[in-house]
Amino acid sequence: MISAEKLLEKQRTYFRSGATRSVSYRVHQLETLQKVLVEHEEELMNAVYEDFKKPELESYATELGILHDEISYAIKKLRKWVKPKRVPGTLINFPSSNYTVAEPYGAVLVIAPWNYPIQLALLPMVGAIAAGNTVVVKPSELSPNTSSVLKKIFEAWFKEEFVAVVEGGVEANQDLLSQDFDYIFFTGSTRVGKIVMEAASKHLAPVTLELGGKSPCIVDGTAKIKTAAKRIAWGKFLNAGQTCVAPDYLLVHSSVKVELLEALKNSIRDFYGVNPKLSPDYARIINKDHFHRLCSYLKEGDIFSGGRYDEEEYYIEPTILNNPKNEAGVMEDEIFGPVLPILEFESIADAIYRVNSGSKPLALYLFTENKTTERLVLKECSFGGGAVNDVVAHLGNRNLPFGGVGNSGMGNYHGKASFDTFSHTKSIMRKPTWLDVPFRYAPYKGKLKWIRKILK
Ligand code: NAD
Repeated sequence: MISAEKLLEKQRTYFRSGATRSVSYRVHQLETLQKVLVEHEEELMNAVYEDFKKPELESYATELGILHDEISYAIKKLRKWVKPKRVPGTLINFPSSNYTVAEPYGAVLVIAPWNYPIQLALLPMVGAIAAGNTVVVKPSELSPNTSSVLKKIFEAWFKEEFVAVVEGGVEANQDLLSQDFDYIFFTGSTRVGKIVMEAASKHLAPVTLELGGKSPCIVDGTAKIKTAAKRIAWGKFLNAGQTCVAPDYLLVHSSVKVELLEALKNSIRDFYGVNPKLSPDYARIINKDHFHRLCSYLKEGDIFSGGRYDEEEYYIEPTILNNPKNEAGVMEDEIFGPVLPILEFESIADAIYRVNSGSKPLALYLFTENKTTERLVLKECSFGGGAVNDVVAHLGNRNLPFGGVGNSGMGNYHGKASFDTFSHTKSIMRKPTWLDVPFRYAPYKGKLKWIRKILK
């Protein structure tokens, strides 16, 4: 197996050869990537199923479908994105023409988590290729079937000096992180995000950190409860709750709490039947450690519905946890599983206070029909992105840059934002030589008053 050092050297040499720079090369590679996803669709979906029994429709919609959409869009828009952008000149530099141009960073490293193991490894890659970089991708060791299929497929279809998949765990990652990559794009936990940023600082490598956190979902007294319940249950129990932007906990106005709890219970039954264990549409927990961590939360409140589990299958029933204990794990850690704690509030100011007393979340959701409440919550709470009267869906719009803030991350991607993330914006001023205004040159005597007039 090639070492991380040698791999980076190969990629850097390839990048410096200029091979990745032409638009036609980038488009061709994106088309190849799309072909790979079509030809290996079944193999990829089976691998994700093997990893945690992810249902077929969810695998298509949230892994392959979203990738197809992103690739088609990048192919369609790339010629426009790479064009230099003219910007206005300023009087002090008259005459000049000014523009910015997107330049690839070089060799970039993408580190992915296990929960959307195809999408989160390849979606950043689309932006990196579109921007003209070479890419090393490190998928997660916790989704080993998907990781090994990705490795096999990419070895067969791409030159490793252009795109390479490196398998392995923490050690492989640390090895990669000790190299001098030109850009590091990390998706994963806040804890590991800090390790990545520290490693990147040694080489001053720029980073995007797509992290997690506790994303609140507020339901006020005016919300359309049945629709809210359906959408919340869908977004929470999709991927068995193992979604970075899943509603982590609910803040419900006391006047609608009973109605919402009942509606949530009904939605869960409608989606997965009376015994979700038998449903083909409900995934499993990724491994034993996460299974036990999640089971421990079941004791940290009153189970309103759900609560059954089976260690053999790493199955945990969609669970609604009423009156969770404060300072319990379930209200301290990111849940990242099918347990939904419910908290109650009396005034929207209390709900806002509760949200703002934690770290800035990756997502925030609000169900309301009241415009004043909507404006207030969106103004007062800082979070990565979110939705009003829906959950999770904002992530599926490539025109909305996706990323966190504070503890939930920095930087963003999707659509054009991906191209921008993986490009350095180079600024150029072009001066003609037919005129050389003498203000800037010494001797300065008598010139200050003119400079003052222009720079004000
Ligand atoms: P993780 O941070 O444990 O692992 C992510 C990657 O980092 C893996 O490839 C892993 O091999 C590597 N890694 C783990 N420990 C490391 C260490 N000590 N040093 C160097 N590398 C290390 O995250 P995870 O458990 O795979 O994923 C779950 C987390 O990811 C959740 O917090 C979730 O919210 C977050 N997430 C965020 C997004 C997003 O887009 N913002 C998407 C999915 C998941």
